[in-house]
Amino acid sequence: MGSLKRILVTGGAGFLGSYLCERLVEAGHDVICIDNFFTSQKTNVAHLLGCGNFELIRHDIVHPIWLEVDEIYNLACPAAPGHYQYNPIKTMKTSVLGMINMLGMARRCGAKILQASTSEIYGDPEIHPQPESYRGAVNPIGPRACYDEGKRAAETLCFDYQRVHRTRIRVVRIFNTYGPRMHPYDGRVVSNFIRQALADEPITIFGSGNQTRSFCYRDDLVDGIIRMMNGPDDFYGPVNIGNPGEFTIRQLAELTIRLTGSRSPLVERPLPKDDPERRRPDISLAESRLGWRPSVALEEGLTRTIEWFRSVDLSDYRAPTPNY
Ligand code: NAD
Ligand code: UDP
Repeated sequence: MGSLKRILVTGGAGFLGSYLCERLVEAGHDVICIDNFFTSQKTNVAHLLGCGNFELIRHDIVHPIWLEVDEIYNLACPAAPGHYQYNPIKTMKTSVLGMINMLGMARRCGAKILQASTSEIYGDPEIHPQPESYRGAVNPIGPRACYDEGKRAAETLCFDYQRVHRTRIRVVRIFNTYGPRMHPYDGRVVSNFIRQALADEPITIFGSGNQTRSFCYRDDLVDGIIRMMNGPDDFYGPVNIGNPGEFTIRQLAELTIRLTGSRSPLVERPLPKDDPERRRPDISLAESRLGWRPSVALEEGLTRTIEWFRSVDLSDYRAPTPNY
């Protein structure tokens, strides 16, 4: 087999998936994108539809599908709290049944499969920053559990397929990522703050605003997962991919106001249940095994993301759920 591959991207019309498809199409691969468009829209990949090496299939990964591929990037899953909590049972089905279907395909085709896991598997962490060896503190019966436990079960499935069937797996734990093409109405902190700031509306800080997150720019993130897919044969992960720069939510609000020149006031709103207090990746494993580290600082990435928000017509987007 040459270096050009048949690659399936599930969730390929989403925020991260659409940019990943773009990168893979540009590299000349034969790319199949599967999406049910729950939290995305065709416009995210419309620019790829004319490319001879890109194919779009409307499909829900909860149901089996037969394709012949060399690599699978499994990104299909609602990622924002308001999206994954909208139909929590479906979220769990997507993580577990979808993972089983994709692992079955990988096994049948002898394909390599990368699972987009998440920092959420660490829950509200007791150790800081979080290394991959930390087993997490997840509330298994809380409102975030459908996502956190679904992603944990998906990781378990990957490693069981590896042990039982020798499936070639890759597991990346993605920390908060932002950038152009993130859904303007996903309710996540970066999109909310930018939208609010551009409209001079109050910026909604949940809780005290002293909770922290580490924000990774989209391009760095996608570079990291492509490296992981093509990394050493014996390196299955899990590996943290994220930007270790840590900011309070209040700092993010102030930076957004400065970069947009907004007159928005800050207002406090109740903190959602089980909202993690601190989050920051330990990326030493990604650095040593993949030679990967992020290169875009928050101010630069936020500036590019604000430009994108200014360039789109927000009325072209529909809020996928009534949660926000
Ligand atoms: P997104 O919501 O933009 O993309 C997810 C895509 O999957 C959407 O296009 C959606 O329509 C599709 N989808 C959902 N359920 C599906 C199903 N059952 N069948 C087919 N398609 C389905 O979110 P994103 O930010 O691009 O996230 C992509 C992946 O990365 C997700 O698996 C998410 O859990 C993971 N992740 C993202 C972040 C982040 O900060 N963006 C952090 C951690 C993990
Ligand atoms: N948040 C906020 N205001 C908003 C949206 C979110 O203060 O309008 C907070 C939220 O409570 C959390 C952090 O920002 O502490 C990140 O939230 P997000 O939903 O983006 O992602 P999470 O990391 O919680 O999955």
